[in-house]
Amino acid sequence: MRALLLATTNRHKLDEFYTIFSDLPLTLQSLREVQIDTDVEETGQTFAENAALKARFYAQASRMFSLADDSGLEIDALDGAPGVYSARFAGRETSYEERFRLILEQMRGLTGEQRRARFRCAIALAEPGGQCRIVEGLIEGVIAHSPRGIHGFGYDPIFLLPELGRTFAELTSEQKNRISHRGRAAQFARVLLEYW
Ligand code: IMP
Repeated sequence: MRALLLATTNRHKLDEFYTIFSDLPLTLQSLREVQIDTDVEETGQTFAENAALKARFYAQASRMFSLADDSGLEIDALDGAPGVYSARFAGRETSYEERFRLILEQMRGLTGEQRRARFRCAIALAEPGGQCRIVEGLIEGVIAHSPRGIHGFGYDPIFLLPELGRTFAELTSEQKNRISHRGRAAQFARVLLEYW
């Protein structure tokens, strides 16, 4: 069976990818399994550039077909922040909770449409030779007034889906994967993987 390296150091993303791709006829491997622990600096200006940077690096390092993603939250009222800096927002050592509390603080007093936001995800699939393809997914929502829910990770407790009346953190992983930015990008990636 062909092998695909899931090139992410984020355990939560890794779990989501394992679930999403579990039925594909591929052996999925993590960076830990192939004993690569190098981090790649995300110097790109867009999610797509960063995803490609990471996928190419790990494909070359492992000599395996590799998948990497770059994702984040864009808030209209904050001019698109935290955006590509979602993982570094308020400093690398900051906890997920400290980051989303800072966002709630910055958005205090804003209501309705002013709380619009979206999650974006770019997935890059790279071959050891350097060839790389990118797919993207997004989901629109609003920033909740206070955190809710216990599932997921990152900004999930403050990302509210108005049509469901729930935050991402109030959904099971199956429900989240069905509609999330990563789930949607992964559906496109599946098509590429089927023809690979
Ligand atoms: P990176 O893609 O590893 O650079 O980091 C993405 C960052 O965006 C994560 O550390 C989270 O803070 C945030 N993020 C990305 N996807 C999600 C998600 O599905 N839920 C919540 N936060 C997310």
